[in-house]
Amino acid sequence: MAKYELDIVGNAMDSLHESLDKYAQGQAGDVRAHKFAILNFCHFMELILKHYISTVNENLIYSNVFKVVSKRAKADNISLIEAYEALEEEDFDFSSPIKGHSNPHTILVENALAYVESDKAYFDSDLADEIRAMKNLRNDIEHHKFSMNTKGIRLALGRLTRGFDEFTDVFDIIGLEEVIDEKQLGVFKTLADEYEHELQEARVDVREAHESAFRGVRPKHMYDVHWESYDCPECGHDSLMIPNDDSSSGYRCTFCGNEESEDIEVECEICGSSWPNGEMSSWVDTYVYTCPDCNDFDSKW
Ligand SMILES: [Zn+2]
Ligand SMILES: [Zn+2]
Repeated sequence: MAKYELDIVGNAMDSLHESLDKYAQGQAGDVRAHKFAILNFCHFMELILKHYISTVNENLIYSNVFKVVSKRAKADNISLIEAYEALEEEDFDFSSPIKGHSNPHTILVENALAYVESDKAYFDSDLADEIRAMKNLRNDIEHHKFSMNTKGIRLALGRLTRGFDEFTDVFDIIGLEEVIDEKQLGVFKTLADEYEHELQEARVDVREAHESAFRGVRPKHMYDVHWESYDCPECGHDSLMIPNDDSSSGYRCTFCGNEESEDIEVECEICGSSWPNGEMSSWVDTYVYTCPDCNDFDSKW
Protein backbone atom coordinates (compact mmCIF):
# COMPACT_ATOMS: atom_id res chain seq x y z
CA MET A 1 0.00 0.00 0.00
CA ALA A 2 1.21 3.47 -0.81
CA LYS A 3 1.55 6.00 2.01
CA TYR A 4 -1.54 7.86 0.81
CA GLU A 5 -3.69 4.74 0.97
CA LEU A 6 -2.59 3.87 4.50
CA ASP A 7 -3.49 7.34 5.71
CA ILE A 8 -6.84 7.19 4.02
CA VAL A 9 -7.87 3.87 5.61
CA GLY A 10 -6.59 4.90 9.05
CA ASN A 11 -8.52 8.15 8.87
CA ALA A 12 -11.62 6.37 7.60
CA MET A 13 -11.56 4.02 10.57
CA ASP A 14 -11.02 6.89 13.03
CA SER A 15 -14.13 8.54 11.64
CA LEU A 16 -16.14 5.32 11.77
CA HIS A 17 -15.13 4.72 15.40
CA GLU A 18 -16.14 8.24 16.31
CA SER A 19 -19.42 7.87 14.46
CA LEU A 20 -20.27 4.59 16.21
CA ASP A 21 -19.54 6.14 19.62
CA LYS A 22 -21.87 9.02 18.84
CA TYR A 23 -24.47 6.65 17.44
CA ALA A 24 -24.49 4.71 20.72
CA GLN A 25 -24.85 7.94 22.71
CA GLY A 26 -27.69 8.97 20.42
CA GLN A 27 -29.50 5.70 20.87
CA ALA A 28 -29.12 6.07 24.63
CA GLY A 29 -31.09 9.30 24.41
CA ASP A 30 -28.56 12.06 23.63
CA VAL A 31 -30.29 13.81 20.72
CA ARG A 32 -27.35 16.08 19.86
CA ALA A 33 -25.01 13.13 19.42
CA HIS A 34 -26.83 12.15 16.19
CA LYS A 35 -25.38 15.20 14.48
CA PHE A 36 -21.82 14.06 15.13
CA ALA A 37 -22.65 10.48 14.21
CA ILE A 38 -23.71 11.79 10.77
CA LEU A 39 -20.74 14.11 10.27
CA ASN A 40 -18.26 11.39 11.13
CA PHE A 41 -20.04 8.72 9.12
CA CYS A 42 -20.03 10.96 6.04
CA HIS A 43 -16.30 11.45 6.44
CA PHE A 44 -15.85 7.69 6.70
CA MET A 45 -17.87 7.09 3.51
CA GLU A 46 -15.95 9.70 1.57
CA LEU A 47 -12.60 8.28 2.53
CA ILE A 48 -13.61 4.70 1.76
CA LEU A 49 -14.96 5.68 -1.65
CA LYS A 50 -11.79 7.60 -2.46
CA HIS A 51 -9.69 4.76 -1.15
CA TYR A 52 -11.50 2.37 -3.45
CA ILE A 53 -10.69 4.59 -6.45
CA SER A 54 -7.02 4.55 -5.45
CA THR A 55 -7.08 0.74 -5.44
CA VAL A 56 -8.40 0.74 -9.02
CA ASN A 57 -5.43 2.87 -9.99
CA GLU A 58 -3.31 4.89 -7.59
CA ASN A 59 -3.37 7.86 -9.99
CA LEU A 60 -7.13 7.86 -10.51
CA ILE A 61 -7.55 9.58 -7.13
CA TYR A 62 -6.23 12.81 -8.71
CA SER A 63 -8.71 15.05 -10.47
CA ASN A 64 -6.49 15.73 -13.49
CA VAL A 65 -6.32 11.99 -14.13
CA PHE A 66 -9.99 11.42 -13.42
CA LYS A 67 -10.85 14.20 -15.91
CA VAL A 68 -9.20 12.22 -18.70
CA VAL A 69 -11.45 9.26 -17.88
CA SER A 70 -14.66 11.28 -17.64
CA LYS A 71 -13.87 13.11 -20.90
CA ARG A 72 -13.38 9.78 -22.62
CA ALA A 73 -16.66 8.50 -21.17
CA LYS A 74 -18.50 11.53 -22.53
CA ALA A 75 -16.82 11.43 -25.93
CA ASP A 76 -17.56 7.75 -26.50
CA ASN A 77 -20.86 7.80 -24.65
CA ILE A 78 -19.75 4.97 -22.36
CA SER A 79 -19.67 4.53 -18.59
CA LEU A 80 -16.77 5.72 -16.46
CA ILE A 81 -15.58 2.21 -15.75
CA GLU A 82 -15.70 1.36 -19.46
CA ALA A 83 -13.74 4.51 -20.25
CA TYR A 84 -11.11 3.61 -17.68
CA GLU A 85 -10.81 0.11 -19.08
CA ALA A 86 -10.55 1.43 -22.65
CA LEU A 87 -7.69 3.74 -21.63
CA GLU A 88 -5.97 0.94 -19.80
CA GLU A 89 -6.24 -1.27 -22.87
CA GLU A 90 -4.53 1.44 -24.87
CA ASP A 91 -1.68 1.53 -22.33
CA PHE A 92 -2.50 5.09 -21.37
CA ASP A 93 0.02 6.42 -18.84
CA PHE A 94 -2.25 7.40 -15.94
CA SER A 95 0.57 9.24 -14.21
CA SER A 96 1.10 11.60 -17.14
CA PRO A 97 -1.62 14.17 -16.28
CA ILE A 98 -0.02 14.88 -12.88
CA LYS A 99 3.63 14.85 -13.97
CA GLY A 100 5.35 17.89 -12.53
CA HIS A 101 2.57 18.60 -10.01
CA SER A 102 3.99 18.37 -6.51
CA ASN A 103 0.65 18.35 -4.71
CA PRO A 104 -2.14 17.55 -7.18
CA HIS A 105 -5.82 17.98 -6.27
CA THR A 106 -7.72 14.84 -5.40
CA ILE A 107 -11.16 14.02 -6.82
CA LEU A 108 -14.50 14.97 -5.28
CA VAL A 109 -16.55 12.35 -3.47
CA GLU A 110 -19.20 12.71 -6.14
CA ASN A 111 -16.59 11.63 -8.74
CA ALA A 112 -15.71 8.57 -6.69
CA LEU A 113 -19.35 7.70 -6.21
CA ALA A 114 -20.12 8.15 -9.92
CA TYR A 115 -17.25 5.82 -10.79
CA VAL A 116 -18.33 3.11 -8.36
CA GLU A 117 -21.91 3.49 -9.51
CA SER A 118 -20.89 2.92 -13.12
CA ASP A 119 -19.90 -0.59 -12.08
CA LYS A 120 -23.53 -1.64 -12.41
CA ALA A 121 -22.87 -5.34 -12.19
CA TYR A 122 -21.51 -5.13 -8.65
CA PHE A 123 -22.62 -1.88 -7.08
CA ASP A 124 -26.04 -1.58 -5.52
CA SER A 125 -27.74 1.63 -6.73
CA ASP A 126 -29.86 1.79 -3.54
CA LEU A 127 -26.62 2.28 -1.63
CA ALA A 128 -25.69 5.20 -3.89
CA ASP A 129 -29.06 6.80 -3.11
CA GLU A 130 -28.55 6.27 0.63
CA ILE A 131 -25.09 7.81 0.43
CA ARG A 132 -26.43 10.88 -1.35
CA ALA A 133 -29.31 11.24 1.10
CA MET A 134 -26.88 11.13 4.03
CA LYS A 135 -24.62 13.68 2.34
CA ASN A 136 -27.61 16.00 1.89
CA LEU A 137 -28.42 15.63 5.56
CA ARG A 138 -24.84 16.54 6.38
CA ASN A 139 -25.13 19.66 4.19
CA ASP A 140 -28.31 20.62 6.03
CA ILE A 141 -26.48 20.27 9.33
CA GLU A 142 -23.69 22.48 8.08
CA HIS A 143 -26.18 25.09 6.97
CA HIS A 144 -28.15 24.82 10.22
CA LYS A 145 -31.29 23.71 8.40
CA PHE A 146 -31.48 20.57 10.39
CA SER A 147 -34.60 19.06 11.86
CA MET A 148 -33.93 15.93 13.79
CA ASN A 149 -35.70 12.67 13.05
CA THR A 150 -33.45 10.72 15.37
CA LYS A 151 -34.91 7.31 14.69
CA GLY A 152 -34.82 7.92 10.94
CA ILE A 153 -31.16 8.89 11.25
CA ARG A 154 -30.27 5.75 13.21
CA LEU A 155 -32.09 3.50 10.75
CA ALA A 156 -30.30 5.18 7.83
CA LEU A 157 -26.94 4.78 9.57
CA GLY A 158 -27.76 1.09 9.99
CA ARG A 159 -28.57 0.65 6.30
CA LEU A 160 -25.38 2.51 5.35
CA THR A 161 -23.26 0.44 7.72
CA ARG A 162 -24.63 -2.72 6.12
CA GLY A 163 -24.13 -1.19 2.67
CA PHE A 164 -20.50 -0.35 3.36
CA ASP A 165 -19.88 -3.66 5.08
CA GLU A 166 -20.98 -5.36 1.87
CA PHE A 167 -19.33 -2.88 -0.47
CA THR A 168 -15.92 -3.12 1.21
CA ASP A 169 -16.25 -6.89 1.16
CA VAL A 170 -17.45 -7.32 -2.44
CA PHE A 171 -14.86 -4.87 -3.75
CA ASP A 172 -12.20 -6.40 -1.55
CA ILE A 173 -11.26 -3.09 0.08
CA ILE A 174 -11.08 -3.91 3.78
CA GLY A 175 -12.85 -6.30 6.12
CA LEU A 176 -14.50 -3.77 8.40
CA GLU A 177 -15.17 -6.26 11.16
CA GLU A 178 -11.48 -7.19 11.28
CA VAL A 179 -10.16 -3.64 11.53
CA ILE A 180 -12.72 -2.14 13.85
CA ASP A 181 -11.67 -1.39 17.44
CA GLU A 182 -12.91 -3.78 20.04
CA LYS A 183 -14.62 -0.93 21.86
CA GLN A 184 -16.94 -0.24 18.91
CA LEU A 185 -17.26 -3.82 17.68
CA GLY A 186 -20.52 -4.48 19.53
CA VAL A 187 -22.25 -1.42 18.09
CA PHE A 188 -20.90 -2.24 14.65
CA LYS A 189 -22.12 -5.84 14.78
CA THR A 190 -25.59 -4.73 15.81
CA LEU A 191 -25.75 -2.20 12.98
CA ALA A 192 -24.35 -4.69 10.49
CA ASP A 193 -27.13 -7.13 11.33
CA GLU A 194 -30.50 -5.88 10.12
CA TYR A 195 -32.52 -8.08 12.46
CA GLU A 196 -30.48 -7.15 15.55
CA HIS A 197 -30.57 -3.49 14.64
CA GLU A 198 -34.34 -3.42 14.19
CA LEU A 199 -34.84 -5.33 17.42
CA GLN A 200 -32.70 -2.82 19.29
CA GLU A 201 -34.70 0.04 17.78
CA ALA A 202 -37.94 -1.70 18.81
CA ARG A 203 -36.62 -1.67 22.41
CA VAL A 204 -35.79 2.04 22.08
CA ASP A 205 -39.43 2.63 21.01
CA VAL A 206 -40.63 0.86 24.17
CA ARG A 207 -38.29 2.88 26.36
CA GLU A 208 -39.35 6.18 24.78
CA ALA A 209 -43.08 5.37 24.97
CA HIS A 210 -42.67 4.44 28.63
CA GLU A 211 -40.77 7.65 29.37
CA SER A 212 -43.33 9.81 27.62
CA ALA A 213 -46.27 8.11 29.39
CA PHE A 214 -44.81 9.05 32.77
CA ARG A 215 -43.29 12.40 31.82
CA GLY A 216 -44.50 15.11 34.12
CA VAL A 217 -46.60 12.74 36.22
CA ARG A 218 -46.22 13.37 39.95
CA PRO A 219 -45.11 10.40 42.03
CA LYS A 220 -48.44 10.12 43.87
CA HIS A 221 -50.27 9.87 40.53
CA MET A 222 -47.97 7.20 39.08
CA TYR A 223 -50.51 4.48 39.85
CA ASP A 224 -53.17 6.30 37.84
CA VAL A 225 -51.15 5.90 34.65
CA HIS A 226 -52.10 2.71 32.88
CA TRP A 227 -49.03 1.64 31.04
CA GLU A 228 -48.45 -2.03 30.58
CA SER A 229 -46.19 -4.02 28.28
CA TYR A 230 -46.64 -7.64 27.26
CA ASP A 231 -44.45 -10.30 25.72
CA CYS A 232 -45.22 -10.74 22.03
CA PRO A 233 -46.46 -14.23 21.17
CA GLU A 234 -45.90 -13.56 17.46
CA CYS A 235 -42.17 -12.70 17.32
CA GLY A 236 -41.38 -14.14 20.75
CA HIS A 237 -39.64 -11.05 22.16
CA ASP A 238 -40.19 -9.90 25.73
CA SER A 239 -42.11 -6.76 26.69
CA LEU A 240 -42.40 -5.29 23.20
CA MET A 241 -46.20 -5.06 23.07
CA ILE A 242 -47.07 -1.59 24.34
CA PRO A 243 -50.15 0.66 24.32
CA ASN A 244 -51.02 1.92 20.86
CA ASP A 245 -54.04 4.08 20.06
CA ASP A 246 -54.32 2.75 16.51
CA SER A 247 -54.44 -0.87 17.57
CA SER A 248 -57.74 -2.74 17.80
CA SER A 249 -56.53 -4.51 20.94
CA GLY A 250 -55.00 -1.32 22.33
CA TYR A 251 -51.51 -2.81 22.09
CA ARG A 252 -48.99 -3.32 19.32
CA CYS A 253 -45.57 -4.96 19.15
CA THR A 254 -42.90 -2.37 18.29
CA PHE A 255 -40.91 -5.03 16.44
CA CYS A 256 -43.35 -7.10 14.38
CA GLY A 257 -46.55 -5.05 14.60
CA ASN A 258 -48.61 -7.88 16.10
CA GLU A 259 -51.65 -6.63 18.08
CA GLU A 260 -52.99 -9.84 19.59
CA SER A 261 -52.07 -11.57 22.84
CA GLU A 262 -54.16 -13.56 25.27
CA ASP A 263 -52.23 -11.85 28.07
CA ILE A 264 -53.66 -8.39 27.35
CA GLU A 265 -55.92 -7.50 30.25
CA VAL A 266 -59.49 -6.40 29.67
CA GLU A 267 -62.25 -5.45 32.06
CA CYS A 268 -65.05 -7.84 32.89
CA GLU A 269 -68.30 -6.40 31.57
CA ILE A 270 -70.17 -7.60 34.67
CA CYS A 271 -67.95 -6.85 37.68
CA GLY A 272 -65.36 -4.53 36.10
CA SER A 273 -62.27 -6.37 37.35
CA SER A 274 -59.27 -6.83 35.03
CA TRP A 275 -58.23 -10.22 33.66
CA PRO A 276 -56.10 -11.49 30.78
CA ASN A 277 -58.49 -11.67 27.81
CA GLY A 278 -57.51 -15.31 27.25
CA GLU A 279 -59.26 -16.21 30.52
CA MET A 280 -62.47 -14.40 29.66
CA SER A 281 -65.65 -16.05 28.42
CA SER A 282 -68.28 -14.52 26.17
CA TRP A 283 -72.00 -15.02 26.64
CA VAL A 284 -74.22 -15.45 23.66
CA ASP A 285 -75.87 -12.17 22.58
CA THR A 286 -74.93 -10.40 25.82
CA TYR A 287 -71.31 -10.01 26.95
CA VAL A 288 -68.02 -10.32 25.08
CA TYR A 289 -65.82 -10.42 28.19
CA THR A 290 -66.88 -12.00 31.43
CA CYS A 291 -64.33 -13.01 34.03
CA PRO A 292 -63.81 -16.45 35.65
CA ASP A 293 -65.32 -15.13 38.94
CA CYS A 294 -68.53 -14.09 37.25
CA ASN A 295 -68.67 -17.45 35.48
CA ASP A 296 -68.13 -19.42 38.69
CA PHE A 297 -71.81 -20.31 39.19
CA ASP A 298 -71.14 -23.38 41.39
CA SER A 299 -69.63 -21.46 44.30
CA LYS A 300 -72.18 -18.64 44.12
CA TRP A 301 -75.46 -20.32 43.58
ZN1 LIG B 1 -43.77 -9.03 18.02
ZN1 LIG C 1 -66.41 -10.37 36.50
